[in-house]
Amino acid sequence: MKQDFSNDALLNLDQRHVIHPLHHTAGHQNARVWVRGENCHLYDADGGRFIDGLSCLWNVSAGHGRAELTAAAAKQMEQLAFCSNYAGGANRPAIELAARLANMTPPNINHFYFTSGGGEATDSNIKLARYYWRAQGQPAKTKIIGRRWGYHGVTFGAMCATGIAAYHKDFAPLIPGFSHIPSPDPYHYPRPASGSQGVAAANELEQEILRQGADTVAAFIAEPVQGAGGVIVPPPDYFPRVREICDQYEVLFIADEVITGFGRTGKMFGVEHYDVQPDLMQFAKSITSGAQPLGGIGIRDDIAAAVTDAASPWMHAYTYSGHPTACAVALAALDIIEQENLPMQAAEKGAVFLAQLHSALDDLPQVGNVRGLGMMCGVEIVADKQTKEWFPPEYQLGAKLTAALMKRGLYTRVRSEVICLAPPLTTPPAVLTEIVDIIRAAVVEVTG
Ligand code: PMP
Repeated sequence: MKQDFSNDALLNLDQRHVIHPLHHTAGHQNARVWVRGENCHLYDADGGRFIDGLSCLWNVSAGHGRAELTAAAAKQMEQLAFCSNYAGGANRPAIELAARLANMTPPNINHFYFTSGGGEATDSNIKLARYYWRAQGQPAKTKIIGRRWGYHGVTFGAMCATGIAAYHKDFAPLIPGFSHIPSPDPYHYPRPASGSQGVAAANELEQEILRQGADTVAAFIAEPVQGAGGVIVPPPDYFPRVREICDQYEVLFIADEVITGFGRTGKMFGVEHYDVQPDLMQFAKSITSGAQPLGGIGIRDDIAAAVTDAASPWMHAYTYSGHPTACAVALAALDIIEQENLPMQAAEKGAVFLAQLHSALDDLPQVGNVRGLGMMCGVEIVADKQTKEWFPPEYQLGAKLTAALMKRGLYTRVRSEVICLAPPLTTPPAVLTEIVDIIRAAVVEVTG
């Protein structure tokens, strides 16, 4: 008997056996089963073609179907697909990748620990921050401050750092010692009577450190541009003030570059826009353009010394840390990023894309805010432009928008009221224009 590989047949089997990330049976009824990708397009099991409006999960930045990545994986797998990177063992791709990253990251960051993704990177940084302060004779410095709308993954530590309540509510109790300050969202953060909005939002960190007690706070974690929380670009003076506060109170600044790293915002790393150096950073996603699961943390030299100078082992480990095949694919992805100057492509195309979004959407009564940096944009829908009030949850705006976009051939994610956009950096300008047209039509249909 011939097997049925149609979308419906596969989805039926999927529904019987697969639990998905963010599983939601109702939201999965019309799921597409993806079978092929070609640059900025995805094809489902019935041959349907969709624009990949979010580079899948912000990660396929170099576009689908890159033969260079396939070749790198095949070559490494023929030679040595996997070996242990636990102390006592090492491999060439991981060594080369760390050395190469040292030349790309801020000058004070020259040591790297690899993970399989972003959540493990968050946990690694949280544990390293605590480990470091303990080694400095300050074992009480354990607390982590994050931000509302911050997303850092959903492993247990990362989930606690994540500042989106929906990710917490069914998994209580959370780990003690995590708190969140408001997002520096230029659209929603109140404008102070005097002084700048960015500095006022950053000063929330100082207030929180003082509330908690500086001698109990280990680190502040923040994405240069908040991604999953709805593409929130902070005011330009926000991170410089954050850096000052972290220095003043001896709090480590962890830059979560999982989405923003490797060109997405128009620079190699998001922090470069703000001219600040983090103490710890973390990356994943675009480092392999999504072709292999790989993440990691970048560590300031003297923090790394706490690990390298210790007499006893750093008891932190993942089987797949420094995975040779994943690291080989990362090296090939970095070649593409550099050779095709993906950061510059993101800057140039992103500026045009954002201008197009503004001119197509600003006049719509339900479009409250259009924003972005590089090839990372957000369109926020409001029920009332004056009060900036959102549609009530019963309206199911997110689900309706997602369906209206899919119907028109655009696959992306909607954070309830924000359409998130981060197409591959290799997307041709004509397709970016197509995305803008689809969004206008979908927004008019859903809110009109
Ligand atoms: N940090 C950020 C900024 C992210 O966007 C994500 C994933 N969207 C993560 C961490 C978690 O990464 P992962 O899903 O690979 O665990």
